[in-house]
Amino acid sequence: MEAYVKDTISKEEELVQAYMDEVFETIVKRDPHEKEFHQAVSTIFRSIKPALVKNPAYRNHNILERIVEPERLITFRVPWMDDNGTVQVNRGFRVQFNSAIGPYKGGLRFHPSVNTSIVKFLGFQQIFKNALTGQPIGGGKGGSDFDPKGKSDREIMRFCQSFMSELAQHIGKDIDVPAGDIGVGAKEIGYLFGQYKKMRNTFEAGVLTGKGLSYGGSLARKEATGYGTIYFVQEMLKDHGFDIAGKKVVISGSGNVSIYAMEKAIELGAKVIACSDSDGYIYDESGISLETVKQLKEVEKRRIHDYVEFHPNAHYQEGCTGIWSIACDIALPCATQNEIDAAAAQTLVNNGVKVVAEGANMPSTPEAIGIFLESNVLFGPAKAVNAGGVAVSSLEMGQNSSRMAWSFEKVDTKLQEIMTDIYQNCKEAAKEYNQPGNLIVGANIAGFIKVADAMIDLGVI
Ligand code: GLU
Repeated sequence: MEAYVKDTISKEEELVQAYMDEVFETIVKRDPHEKEFHQAVSTIFRSIKPALVKNPAYRNHNILERIVEPERLITFRVPWMDDNGTVQVNRGFRVQFNSAIGPYKGGLRFHPSVNTSIVKFLGFQQIFKNALTGQPIGGGKGGSDFDPKGKSDREIMRFCQSFMSELAQHIGKDIDVPAGDIGVGAKEIGYLFGQYKKMRNTFEAGVLTGKGLSYGGSLARKEATGYGTIYFVQEMLKDHGFDIAGKKVVISGSGNVSIYAMEKAIELGAKVIACSDSDGYIYDESGISLETVKQLKEVEKRRIHDYVEFHPNAHYQEGCTGIWSIACDIALPCATQNEIDAAAAQTLVNNGVKVVAEGANMPSTPEAIGIFLESNVLFGPAKAVNAGGVAVSSLEMGQNSSRMAWSFEKVDTKLQEIMTDIYQNCKEAAKEYNQPGNLIVGANIAGFIKVADAMIDLGVI
Protein backbone atom coordinates (compact mmCIF):
# COMPACT_ATOMS: atom_id res chain seq x y z
CA MET A 1 0.00 0.00 0.00
CA GLU A 2 2.79 2.37 0.99
CA ALA A 3 4.61 1.82 -2.32
CA TYR A 4 1.43 2.34 -4.30
CA VAL A 5 0.76 5.70 -2.61
CA LYS A 6 4.37 6.75 -3.26
CA ASP A 7 4.10 5.85 -6.96
CA THR A 8 1.23 8.30 -7.40
CA ILE A 9 3.44 11.20 -6.31
CA SER A 10 5.33 12.55 -9.30
CA LYS A 11 9.06 13.06 -9.26
CA GLU A 12 8.54 16.83 -9.55
CA GLU A 13 6.18 16.82 -6.60
CA GLU A 14 8.78 15.06 -4.48
CA LEU A 15 11.44 17.57 -5.50
CA VAL A 16 9.13 20.49 -4.74
CA GLN A 17 8.25 19.08 -1.33
CA ALA A 18 11.92 18.58 -0.45
CA TYR A 19 12.69 22.10 -1.67
CA MET A 20 9.89 23.62 0.41
CA ASP A 21 10.95 21.66 3.51
CA GLU A 22 14.50 22.88 3.10
CA VAL A 23 13.52 26.55 2.73
CA PHE A 24 11.12 26.29 5.65
CA GLU A 25 13.76 24.67 7.86
CA THR A 26 16.14 27.49 6.98
CA ILE A 27 13.76 30.23 8.10
CA VAL A 28 12.96 28.39 11.34
CA LYS A 29 16.66 27.87 12.02
CA ARG A 30 17.51 31.48 11.28
CA ASP A 31 14.75 32.98 13.42
CA PRO A 32 13.35 30.26 15.69
CA HIS A 33 11.18 32.66 17.72
CA GLU A 34 9.24 34.14 14.79
CA LYS A 35 6.15 31.93 15.20
CA GLU A 36 3.66 34.16 13.36
CA PHE A 37 6.03 34.54 10.42
CA HIS A 38 6.48 30.76 10.24
CA GLN A 39 2.70 30.33 10.33
CA ALA A 40 2.26 32.75 7.41
CA VAL A 41 5.01 31.09 5.35
CA SER A 42 3.75 27.57 5.99
CA THR A 43 0.18 28.48 4.95
CA ILE A 44 1.44 30.03 1.73
CA PHE A 45 3.82 27.16 0.93
CA ARG A 46 1.05 24.62 1.38
CA SER A 47 -1.17 26.50 -1.08
CA ILE A 48 1.38 27.28 -3.78
CA LYS A 49 2.86 23.79 -4.05
CA PRO A 50 0.85 22.93 -7.22
CA ALA A 51 2.17 26.08 -8.92
CA LEU A 52 5.75 24.99 -8.24
CA VAL A 53 5.04 21.48 -9.50
CA LYS A 54 3.52 22.85 -12.70
CA ASN A 55 6.30 25.36 -13.36
CA PRO A 56 9.78 24.09 -12.38
CA ALA A 57 11.21 27.55 -13.19
CA TYR A 58 10.23 28.73 -9.71
CA ARG A 59 12.39 26.04 -8.11
CA ASN A 60 15.17 26.39 -10.65
CA HIS A 61 15.37 30.12 -9.93
CA ASN A 62 15.21 29.47 -6.19
CA ILE A 63 12.27 31.85 -5.86
CA LEU A 64 11.13 30.54 -2.46
CA GLU A 65 14.38 31.13 -0.64
CA ARG A 66 14.50 34.63 -2.08
CA ILE A 67 10.87 35.51 -1.44
CA VAL A 68 10.93 34.59 2.27
CA GLU A 69 13.90 36.87 2.88
CA PRO A 70 12.94 40.56 3.19
CA GLU A 71 14.83 42.86 0.87
CA ARG A 72 15.43 45.00 3.95
CA LEU A 73 14.40 44.98 7.62
CA ILE A 74 14.88 48.20 9.53
CA THR A 75 14.57 48.42 13.32
CA PHE A 76 15.16 51.62 15.17
CA ARG A 77 14.94 53.38 18.51
CA VAL A 78 11.99 55.74 19.00
CA PRO A 79 12.64 58.00 21.98
CA TRP A 80 9.86 60.43 22.94
CA MET A 81 8.86 62.50 25.93
CA ASP A 82 5.63 61.77 27.80
CA ASP A 83 3.43 64.42 29.42
CA ASN A 84 5.31 64.08 32.73
CA GLY A 85 8.57 65.00 31.05
CA THR A 86 9.90 61.43 31.24
CA VAL A 87 11.74 60.04 28.23
CA GLN A 88 10.17 56.84 26.91
CA VAL A 89 11.72 54.46 24.41
CA ASN A 90 9.88 52.27 21.93
CA ARG A 91 11.06 50.11 19.10
CA GLY A 92 10.23 51.04 15.50
CA PHE A 93 10.14 48.67 12.51
CA ARG A 94 9.82 48.74 8.76
CA VAL A 95 10.10 45.62 6.68
CA GLN A 96 10.64 46.26 2.97
CA PHE A 97 9.78 42.79 1.85
CA ASN A 98 9.43 42.76 -1.91
CA SER A 99 9.55 45.46 -4.59
CA ALA A 100 9.44 43.28 -7.71
CA ILE A 101 6.15 44.75 -8.97
CA GLY A 102 6.16 48.21 -7.38
CA PRO A 103 7.27 50.32 -4.43
CA TYR A 104 6.92 48.68 -1.01
CA LYS A 105 3.38 49.29 0.25
CA GLY A 106 1.75 48.42 3.54
CA GLY A 107 0.53 49.82 6.80
CA LEU A 108 2.08 50.81 10.11
CA ARG A 109 0.77 49.11 13.25
CA PHE A 110 1.13 50.69 16.70
CA HIS A 111 0.36 47.98 19.27
CA PRO A 112 2.29 46.46 22.20
CA SER A 113 2.35 43.07 20.43
CA VAL A 114 4.40 44.40 17.49
CA ASN A 115 7.77 42.69 17.07
CA THR A 116 9.87 41.34 14.20
CA SER A 117 7.73 38.24 13.82
CA ILE A 118 4.47 40.20 13.58
CA VAL A 119 5.90 42.74 11.16
CA LYS A 120 7.41 40.00 8.98
CA PHE A 121 4.22 37.92 8.86
CA LEU A 122 2.20 40.99 7.89
CA GLY A 123 4.81 42.14 5.37
CA PHE A 124 5.09 38.69 3.81
CA GLN A 125 1.33 38.41 3.32
CA GLN A 126 1.19 41.96 2.03
CA ILE A 127 3.35 40.94 -0.97
CA PHE A 128 0.67 38.57 -2.25
CA LYS A 129 -2.29 40.67 -1.18
CA ASN A 130 -0.94 43.67 -3.03
CA ALA A 131 -0.22 41.60 -6.14
CA LEU A 132 -3.80 40.29 -6.05
CA THR A 133 -5.24 43.81 -6.23
CA GLY A 134 -3.85 44.13 -9.76
CA GLN A 135 -2.19 47.40 -8.73
CA PRO A 136 1.58 48.00 -9.15
CA ILE A 137 2.56 47.80 -5.49
CA GLY A 138 5.19 45.72 -3.69
CA GLY A 139 4.94 44.44 -0.12
CA GLY A 140 6.01 46.13 3.11
CA LYS A 141 4.84 46.67 6.66
CA GLY A 142 5.97 48.46 9.78
CA GLY A 143 5.04 49.83 13.13
CA SER A 144 6.01 49.98 16.74
CA ASP A 145 5.33 48.39 20.10
CA PHE A 146 4.05 51.82 21.20
CA ASP A 147 0.57 51.53 22.75
CA PRO A 148 -1.63 54.50 21.77
CA LYS A 149 -4.27 53.40 24.30
CA GLY A 150 -4.49 55.92 27.15
CA LYS A 151 -1.98 58.33 25.57
CA SER A 152 -2.77 62.02 25.18
CA ASP A 153 -2.92 63.62 21.74
CA ARG A 154 0.33 65.46 22.46
CA GLU A 155 2.08 62.22 23.40
CA ILE A 156 0.84 60.58 20.21
CA MET A 157 2.06 63.55 18.18
CA ARG A 158 5.52 63.53 19.80
CA PHE A 159 5.77 59.79 19.28
CA CYS A 160 4.79 60.06 15.59
CA GLN A 161 7.31 62.86 15.04
CA SER A 162 10.12 60.83 16.57
CA PHE A 163 9.07 57.71 14.62
CA MET A 164 9.08 59.66 11.34
CA SER A 165 12.45 61.28 12.11
CA GLU A 166 13.97 57.87 11.43
CA LEU A 167 11.44 56.41 8.97
CA ALA A 168 11.77 59.39 6.59
CA GLN A 169 15.21 58.17 5.56
CA HIS A 170 13.75 54.96 4.18
CA ILE A 171 10.50 55.95 2.44
CA GLY A 172 9.42 57.96 -0.59
CA LYS A 173 6.57 58.00 -3.11
CA ASP A 174 8.46 55.65 -5.47
CA ILE A 175 10.33 53.77 -2.74
CA ASP A 176 8.07 52.78 0.12
CA VAL A 177 4.61 54.11 0.93
CA PRO A 178 3.30 53.38 4.44
CA ALA A 179 -0.32 53.74 5.56
CA GLY A 180 -2.34 52.90 8.66
CA ASP A 181 -3.16 49.63 10.37
CA ILE A 182 -4.15 48.79 13.98
CA GLY A 183 -3.52 51.89 16.16
CA VAL A 184 -2.71 54.13 13.19
CA GLY A 185 -5.59 56.13 11.73
CA ALA A 186 -6.01 59.51 10.06
CA LYS A 187 -4.75 61.40 13.12
CA GLU A 188 -1.44 59.53 13.30
CA ILE A 189 -1.01 59.68 9.51
CA GLY A 190 -1.46 63.47 9.79
CA TYR A 191 1.30 63.81 12.40
CA LEU A 192 3.58 61.48 10.42
CA PHE A 193 2.97 63.38 7.18
CA GLY A 194 3.51 66.75 8.89
CA GLN A 195 6.90 65.65 10.18
CA TYR A 196 7.94 64.18 6.82
CA LYS A 197 6.94 67.38 5.03
CA LYS A 198 8.91 69.50 7.49
CA MET A 199 12.02 67.33 7.23
CA ARG A 200 11.99 67.18 3.43
CA ASN A 201 10.67 70.69 2.76
CA THR A 202 8.56 69.23 -0.02
CA PHE A 203 4.86 68.39 -0.36
CA GLU A 204 5.30 64.79 -1.45
CA ALA A 205 1.67 63.67 -1.05
CA GLY A 206 2.27 60.15 -2.38
CA VAL A 207 4.66 59.18 0.43
CA LEU A 208 1.83 58.09 2.75
CA THR A 209 -1.74 56.96 2.14
CA GLY A 210 -4.81 57.15 4.32
CA LYS A 211 -4.22 60.90 4.55
CA GLY A 212 -6.86 63.45 5.54
CA LEU A 213 -8.93 64.80 2.67
CA SER A 214 -7.57 68.33 3.04
CA TYR A 215 -3.97 67.32 2.33
CA GLY A 216 -4.13 64.70 -0.41
CA GLY A 217 -6.21 61.84 0.99
CA SER A 218 -8.65 59.90 -1.16
CA LEU A 219 -12.38 59.80 -0.65
CA ALA A 220 -13.53 56.28 0.29
CA ARG A 221 -10.08 55.23 1.62
CA LYS A 222 -11.45 55.21 5.17
CA GLU A 223 -14.34 52.96 4.14
CA ALA A 224 -12.38 50.83 1.66
CA THR A 225 -11.25 47.83 3.74
CA GLY A 226 -14.68 47.33 5.36
CA TYR A 227 -16.69 48.00 2.20
CA GLY A 228 -14.30 45.82 0.19
CA THR A 229 -14.81 42.98 2.69
CA ILE A 230 -18.56 43.09 2.11
CA TYR A 231 -18.19 43.41 -1.68
CA PHE A 232 -16.09 40.23 -1.57
CA VAL A 233 -18.65 38.45 0.63
CA GLN A 234 -21.36 39.50 -1.83
CA GLU A 235 -19.42 37.86 -4.66
CA MET A 236 -19.00 34.67 -2.63
CA LEU A 237 -22.71 34.57 -1.84
CA LYS A 238 -23.83 35.47 -5.36
CA ASP A 239 -21.73 32.66 -6.78
CA HIS A 240 -23.61 30.19 -4.60
CA GLY A 241 -27.06 31.63 -5.25
CA PHE A 242 -27.44 33.54 -1.97
CA ASP A 243 -27.97 37.17 -1.05
CA ILE A 244 -26.60 39.09 1.95
CA ALA A 245 -29.98 40.70 2.69
CA GLY A 246 -31.56 39.23 5.82
CA LYS A 247 -28.41 37.36 6.90
CA LYS A 248 -27.25 37.47 10.52
CA VAL A 249 -23.71 38.79 10.74
CA VAL A 250 -21.19 38.72 13.60
CA ILE A 251 -18.22 41.07 13.18
CA SER A 252 -15.35 41.12 15.66
CA GLY A 253 -13.53 44.36 16.37
CA SER A 254 -14.88 47.92 16.31
CA GLY A 255 -12.02 49.67 14.52
CA ASN A 256 -11.91 51.01 11.02
CA VAL A 257 -12.34 47.68 9.19
CA SER A 258 -15.16 46.50 11.41
CA ILE A 259 -17.14 49.76 11.43
CA TYR A 260 -17.23 50.10 7.64
CA ALA A 261 -17.95 46.40 7.13
CA MET A 262 -20.95 46.92 9.44
CA GLU A 263 -22.00 50.02 7.54
CA LYS A 264 -22.03 48.31 4.15
CA ALA A 265 -23.57 45.08 5.48
CA ILE A 266 -26.42 47.02 7.11
CA GLU A 267 -26.90 49.13 3.97
CA LEU A 268 -27.32 45.92 1.96
CA GLY A 269 -29.98 44.61 4.34
CA ALA A 270 -27.96 42.29 6.59
CA LYS A 271 -28.45 42.28 10.35
CA VAL A 272 -25.24 42.83 12.35
CA ILE A 273 -25.86 41.35 15.80
CA ALA A 274 -22.46 41.58 17.53
CA CYS A 275 -19.13 43.39 17.56
CA SER A 276 -16.25 43.69 20.04
CA ASP A 277 -13.09 45.38 21.25
CA SER A 278 -10.07 43.92 23.03
CA ASP A 279 -12.00 43.82 26.37
CA GLY A 280 -15.23 42.11 25.33
CA TYR A 281 -18.20 42.01 22.97
CA ILE A 282 -21.71 43.39 22.67
CA TYR A 283 -24.63 41.39 21.35
CA ASP A 284 -28.13 42.41 20.33
CA GLU A 285 -30.33 39.99 18.43
CA SER A 286 -32.39 42.89 17.08
CA GLY A 287 -29.30 44.48 15.49
CA ILE A 288 -26.45 46.70 16.68
CA SER A 289 -26.77 50.49 16.36
CA LEU A 290 -23.86 51.53 14.16
CA GLU A 291 -24.45 55.15 15.06
CA THR A 292 -23.72 54.41 18.74
CA VAL A 293 -20.66 52.29 17.91
CA LYS A 294 -19.28 55.09 15.70
CA GLN A 295 -19.92 57.72 18.37
CA LEU A 296 -18.23 55.62 21.07
CA LYS A 297 -15.29 54.39 19.03
CA GLU A 298 -14.56 57.00 16.36
CA VAL A 299 -15.53 60.16 18.24
CA GLU A 300 -15.25 59.58 21.98
CA LYS A 301 -12.60 56.79 21.94
CA ARG A 302 -14.48 54.84 24.61
CA ARG A 303 -14.71 51.11 25.28
CA ILE A 304 -17.41 48.95 23.68
CA HIS A 305 -18.94 48.01 27.08
CA ASP A 306 -20.30 51.58 27.30
CA TYR A 307 -22.68 50.64 24.46
CA VAL A 308 -25.13 49.05 26.91
CA GLU A 309 -25.56 52.42 28.68
CA PHE A 310 -27.34 53.61 25.54
CA HIS A 311 -28.99 50.30 24.62
CA PRO A 312 -30.01 48.51 27.85
CA ASN A 313 -31.46 45.59 25.87
CA ALA A 314 -28.07 44.70 24.44
CA HIS A 315 -25.72 42.34 26.29
CA TYR A 316 -22.08 42.91 27.11
CA GLN A 317 -19.73 40.02 27.80
CA GLU A 318 -16.10 40.25 28.83
CA GLY A 319 -13.48 38.40 26.78
CA CYS A 320 -13.07 38.28 23.02
CA THR A 321 -13.49 34.68 21.88
CA GLY A 322 -17.07 34.34 23.20
CA ILE A 323 -18.30 36.37 20.25
CA TRP A 324 -17.85 33.26 18.07
CA SER A 325 -20.40 31.33 20.13
CA ILE A 326 -23.19 33.57 18.79
CA ALA A 327 -25.18 31.78 16.08
CA CYS A 328 -24.88 33.60 12.74
CA ASP A 329 -24.89 33.05 8.97
CA ILE A 330 -21.80 35.14 8.30
CA ALA A 331 -18.80 35.58 10.61
CA LEU A 332 -16.33 38.36 9.83
CA PRO A 333 -13.21 38.35 12.01
CA CYS A 334 -12.05 41.98 11.69
CA ALA A 335 -9.98 42.40 14.88
CA THR A 336 -6.53 40.78 14.84
CA GLN A 337 -4.39 37.70 14.15
CA ASN A 338 -5.32 34.25 15.49
CA GLU A 339 -8.61 35.40 17.00
CA ILE A 340 -10.45 32.26 15.79
CA ASP A 341 -8.94 29.04 17.10
CA ALA A 342 -10.08 25.46 16.50
CA ALA A 343 -12.64 25.54 19.33
CA ALA A 344 -14.17 28.81 18.12
CA ALA A 345 -14.27 27.52 14.54
CA GLN A 346 -16.01 24.32 15.65
CA THR A 347 -18.60 26.32 17.60
CA LEU A 348 -19.31 28.51 14.57
CA VAL A 349 -19.74 25.40 12.40
CA ASN A 350 -21.99 23.69 14.97
CA ASN A 351 -24.13 26.82 15.03
CA GLY A 352 -24.56 26.70 11.25
CA VAL A 353 -22.25 29.45 9.96
CA LYS A 354 -22.31 29.60 6.13
CA VAL A 355 -19.59 32.14 5.35
CA VAL A 356 -16.41 33.16 7.14
CA ALA A 357 -14.48 36.04 5.58
CA GLU A 358 -11.33 37.50 7.10
CA GLY A 359 -11.37 41.31 7.40
CA ALA A 360 -8.32 41.22 9.71
CA ASN A 361 -4.92 39.79 8.75
CA MET A 362 -4.54 36.05 9.59
CA PRO A 363 -7.40 36.00 12.14
CA SER A 364 -7.97 32.22 11.80
CA THR A 365 -5.43 29.69 13.05
CA PRO A 366 -4.44 26.92 10.59
CA GLU A 367 -6.55 24.45 12.63
CA ALA A 368 -9.58 26.75 12.41
CA ILE A 369 -9.17 27.03 8.64
CA GLY A 370 -8.99 23.22 8.42
CA ILE A 371 -12.31 22.94 10.24
CA PHE A 372 -14.01 25.50 7.98
CA LEU A 373 -12.81 23.77 4.82
CA GLU A 374 -13.80 20.28 6.03
CA SER A 375 -17.24 21.58 6.95
CA ASN A 376 -17.77 23.19 3.53
CA VAL A 377 -18.07 26.67 4.98
CA LEU A 378 -17.46 29.32 2.29
CA PHE A 379 -14.12 30.70 3.42
CA GLY A 380 -12.64 34.01 2.24
CA PRO A 381 -8.95 34.45 3.15
CA ALA A 382 -7.61 37.78 4.42
CA LYS A 383 -5.34 38.60 1.55
CA ALA A 384 -8.30 38.58 -0.82
CA VAL A 385 -11.10 39.76 1.48
CA ASN A 386 -9.36 42.76 3.05
CA ALA A 387 -7.36 43.84 -0.01
CA GLY A 388 -9.77 46.72 -0.70
CA GLY A 389 -7.93 48.96 1.76
CA VAL A 390 -4.54 48.72 0.13
CA ALA A 391 -6.15 48.78 -3.33
CA VAL A 392 -7.69 52.18 -2.60
CA SER A 393 -4.36 53.27 -1.12
CA SER A 394 -2.92 52.60 -4.55
CA LEU A 395 -5.70 54.68 -6.10
CA GLU A 396 -4.77 57.42 -3.62
CA MET A 397 -1.16 57.25 -4.87
CA GLY A 398 -2.45 57.55 -8.44
CA GLN A 399 -4.55 60.61 -7.58
CA ASN A 400 -1.55 62.18 -5.83
CA SER A 401 0.72 61.64 -8.87
CA SER A 402 -1.80 63.16 -11.25
CA ARG A 403 -2.79 65.93 -8.79
CA MET A 404 -6.42 64.91 -9.16
CA ALA A 405 -9.09 64.12 -6.57
CA TRP A 406 -11.69 61.58 -7.60
CA SER A 407 -15.31 61.59 -6.43
CA PHE A 408 -16.47 59.10 -3.78
CA GLU A 409 -18.54 57.29 -6.42
CA LYS A 410 -15.60 56.93 -8.77
CA VAL A 411 -13.36 55.41 -6.08
CA ASP A 412 -16.16 53.19 -4.75
CA THR A 413 -17.01 51.90 -8.24
CA LYS A 414 -13.34 51.12 -8.88
CA LEU A 415 -13.15 49.36 -5.50
CA GLN A 416 -16.13 47.19 -6.41
CA GLU A 417 -14.52 46.26 -9.74
CA ILE A 418 -11.25 45.40 -7.98
CA MET A 419 -13.00 43.18 -5.40
CA THR A 420 -14.96 41.38 -8.14
CA ASP A 421 -11.74 40.81 -10.10
CA ILE A 422 -9.95 39.52 -7.01
CA TYR A 423 -12.77 37.06 -6.37
CA GLN A 424 -12.78 35.86 -9.99
CA ASN A 425 -8.97 35.53 -10.09
CA CYS A 426 -8.92 33.51 -6.86
CA LYS A 427 -11.74 31.29 -8.08
CA GLU A 428 -10.10 30.68 -11.46
CA ALA A 429 -6.67 29.94 -9.98
CA ALA A 430 -8.24 27.47 -7.52
CA LYS A 431 -10.00 25.73 -10.41
CA GLU A 432 -6.92 25.68 -12.62
CA TYR A 433 -4.92 24.00 -9.84
CA ASN A 434 -7.61 21.38 -9.16
CA GLN A 435 -8.94 22.74 -5.90
CA PRO A 436 -12.19 24.36 -7.02
CA GLY A 437 -13.76 26.59 -4.39
CA ASN A 438 -10.63 26.77 -2.27
CA LEU A 439 -10.09 30.53 -2.25
CA ILE A 440 -7.02 30.25 0.00
CA VAL A 441 -5.20 28.25 -2.62
CA GLY A 442 -6.55 30.53 -5.36
CA ALA A 443 -5.49 33.75 -3.63
CA ASN A 444 -2.03 32.51 -2.73
CA ILE A 445 -1.31 31.05 -6.16
CA ALA A 446 -2.63 34.07 -8.10
CA GLY A 447 -0.60 36.49 -5.94
CA PHE A 448 2.51 34.32 -5.94
CA ILE A 449 2.66 33.76 -9.71
CA LYS A 450 2.54 37.48 -10.45
CA VAL A 451 5.40 38.29 -8.09
CA ALA A 452 7.49 35.20 -8.89
CA ASP A 453 7.25 35.81 -12.65
CA ALA A 454 8.37 39.43 -12.15
CA MET A 455 11.29 38.26 -10.00
CA ILE A 456 12.42 35.89 -12.74
CA ASP A 457 12.12 38.63 -15.39
CA LEU A 458 14.21 41.00 -13.26
CA GLY A 459 17.17 38.64 -12.92
CA VAL A 460 18.76 37.67 -9.64
CA ILE A 461 17.09 40.13 -7.27
N1 GLU B 1 -2.93 47.98 6.74
C1 GLU B 1 -3.75 47.70 5.60
C2 GLU B 1 -3.51 46.29 5.13
O1 GLU B 1 -3.27 45.42 5.93
C3 GLU B 1 -3.62 48.77 4.52
C4 GLU B 1 -2.25 48.97 3.96
C5 GLU B 1 -2.11 50.14 2.99
O2 GLU B 1 -3.11 50.80 2.69
O3 GLU B 1 -1.00 50.36 2.54
O4 GLU B 1 -3.58 45.95 3.97
